Amino acid sequence: MLNEYAYCPRLAYLEWVQGEFADSVDTVEGRFQHRRVDRPSGGLPPSPADEEAGPGDDDDPTAETIHARSVLISDQALGVIARIDLIEGQGNAVIPVDYKHGKTPDLPEGAWEPERVLVCIQGLLLRANGYTCSQGMLYFVESRQRIAVPLDDALVSRTLELLSGIRDMASSGRIPQPLEDSPKCPRCSLVGICLPDEVNFLSAQGRAITREDVRRMAPARDDSIPVYVQTQGAVVGKSGEQLEVKQKSQVLQRVRLMEISHLALFGNVQVTTQAVRELCDRSIPICYFTYGGWFRGITNGMGHKNVELRCRQFMGAVTSEAALSISRQLVFGKIKNCRTMLRRNHREVPSATLAELNRLADRALTAPSLDTLLGIEGAAARTYFSEFQGMIKIRSVAFDFQGRNRRPPRDPVNAVLSFLYAMLIKQAMIAAITVGFDPYLGFYHQPKYGKPALALDLVEEFRPIIADSVCISLINNGELGTGHFVTRGHATALAPNGRRKVIESYERRMDALVTHPLFGYSVSYRRILEIQVRLLARHLLGELPSYPVFRTR
Ligand code: SF4
Repeated sequence: MLNEYAYCPRLAYLEWVQGEFADSVDTVEGRFQHRRVDRPSGGLPPSPADEEAGPGDDDDPTAETIHARSVLISDQALGVIARIDLIEGQGNAVIPVDYKHGKTPDLPEGAWEPERVLVCIQGLLLRANGYTCSQGMLYFVESRQRIAVPLDDALVSRTLELLSGIRDMASSGRIPQPLEDSPKCPRCSLVGICLPDEVNFLSAQGRAITREDVRRMAPARDDSIPVYVQTQGAVVGKSGEQLEVKQKSQVLQRVRLMEISHLALFGNVQVTTQAVRELCDRSIPICYFTYGGWFRGITNGMGHKNVELRCRQFMGAVTSEAALSISRQLVFGKIKNCRTMLRRNHREVPSATLAELNRLADRALTAPSLDTLLGIEGAAARTYFSEFQGMIKIRSVAFDFQGRNRRPPRDPVNAVLSFLYAMLIKQAMIAAITVGFDPYLGFYHQPKYGKPALALDLVEEFRPIIADSVCISLINNGELGTGHFVTRGHATALAPNGRRKVIESYERRMDALVTHPLFGYSVSYRRILEIQVRLLARHLLGELPSYPVFRTR
């Protein structure tokens, strides 16, 4: 953590206080190259500090040669614990060696400050345990070069200064500002979590930071994919590094674990304990749906360690002003995005409808209470859905939309909408859990047993532009027909072949790249949803003055 603090104080706060971690090329390479040194071997002679005779003679040629790997060492007075890759030496004179995965940097000191600080604190720990240590060593794996780091007064004093700094930072409870326009950020493993340029831009407050200064440093879309299993009677198990879906003894599908974002099971599908444990270890959620697509639950490892965020979430949810301010933005964004949907897709949207939606969106921004906001949202939904049929270009009785109905849906359009909203809520739930929120405590939707209120909040701004948009496209492109639905009594549901079509189209939409309206870079809807959840967290943690709702233009 001292190494991270020397690199960027915010990085240390995110990792140490908020429990964030993410792999990058650097961390994966580092782990791979560390695999040998991480295996403990050899040993240190008893700590001279513990021996009655005191430290021995460092120049004694008969003294024992030390070559100990992966040694855990600590000191109460320093308040530091470290695992040292390798300790070499003779007698009491030792040198800590730290393995670095890259090439030796071209610097007069031979290494960057965070690396020198790291071996310095290791040296100080060894000294505190009674050994003699006058230098540390950095071994750069790629260039196979050793760089000696003398533990001189300047480095020791800087290391102790940083040690005191990181403690003060952690106890302050305030996350440091992101670095500005720093070349460190694109290489930082937490850049997709920290959102440095985005946070700097949205909290600029007088500083000359523009949208053009925001760099897209995280990938535009995720490489991992969700796995859906809807074959009744199938069993999901683990086989080596793969998930295996079987029915009886026949293998239906194999997917590499490293490529899975989450597992979605529909109806009567079993999952083995080994598979559950592996998915939990890898923080891959398992989502359970009824056969008809109702979202029933989620399995999710040990949960996120960011208790600081949960405290702020709970405080925000019970503070009416904070909850109202976030809710106003959510409803405003939803109404504006409904308006955009009609403008883009309706054959001939009445100007009065667009004006009414504008008026309701503006009213949402100043609503004096959640009850008023609910009324405004209800009025906007009635206005929007009264023109929904105008976006359906196929003339068919099956897709004659007379208004929104649910529980259960009574016609094909409502069946598709309900299924897509459930998909979206699942995605928001996963994003909320990934970021460290409690998905059951919302700001706009009020707590109710079993209701994922925060996930419902988070999907508001995305319902029209993702779910409604997928529904309209599927119908207008002729991808859905009456054969994709089943009707029992008054209830209409998607048949398995219809569900498959809707899931495929939904996933394509989530992966579609769009230009982010605030930041100007190209990014997938799936990633945008996660960014919104992270921005909500930044707002609650006091970094952003308000929640910046997502609005398409
Ligand atoms: S992305 Fe930049 S500001 Fe954020 S933690 Fe990493 S180095 Fe620090």
